[in-house]
Amino acid sequence: TYFDELPIKTDLIDNIKSSGYKEPTIIQRQAMTVMLQRRQILACAPTGSGKTAAFLVPIIHHLGGPQRKGFRAVIICPTRELAKQTQRECVRLSIGYGFRIHIISKVEKAMSLYGPKSSQKFDILVTTPNRLCYLLKQEPPAISLSNVEWLIIDEADKLFEAGFCSFRDQLEQILQACTSKNRKIGMFSATFTPAVDEWCTENIKDLVRVTV
Ligand code: AMP
Repeated sequence: TYFDELPIKTDLIDNIKSSGYKEPTIIQRQAMTVMLQRRQILACAPTGSGKTAAFLVPIIHHLGGPQRKGFRAVIICPTRELAKQTQRECVRLSIGYGFRIHIISKVEKAMSLYGPKSSQKFDILVTTPNRLCYLLKQEPPAISLSNVEWLIIDEADKLFEAGFCSFRDQLEQILQACTSKNRKIGMFSATFTPAVDEWCTENIKDLVRVTV
């Protein structure tokens, strides 16, 4: 199977090829197929199997281009380092799309970015849960997630394990802020974890499970 055989826009396929990817990995083929149909997913595949592009490509395909509506995709990563890597890959894969991709850097700096005038500026957010929840907890909230179409939890096994209760609470808070009826969840994990699986079963309707 080649990327050309998946229902992806040709300019996006060009960006994938420019990244040096010749053919999709198994998780990419399976997860992209599911997400391109706007179906919610729990994907388990080992570290290094190409999970990042597996969720970025369908997101870029669906968002299509900047709309100045505010964040339409949010990607939650367990660490700043991983968030930076994910942002870099997103920038590379979305060349020519004109997206504004934001990574919450310093909380103080971020707060001024979400004032009434600038809240519409960004399309995609890559963040750790702590920084996002800090902004959501402000009164009034310093960030709006009301237009989010895709919420991606990357390395879910790590997030749930690093203080299971607190991440569950944070996720609850984030979901409450994602008020759009069209909101979809993509959960990506390196290992099968009962806690993650149970959370998905309880919270995600018509979930598709993909394990590699
Ligand atoms: P990830 O699992 O997303 O961290 O990706 C692991 C590494 O594989 C990264 O360096 C990617 O750039 C690379 N990669 C992702 N997808 C492909 C692909 N289809 N072909 C070759 N390399 C890839």
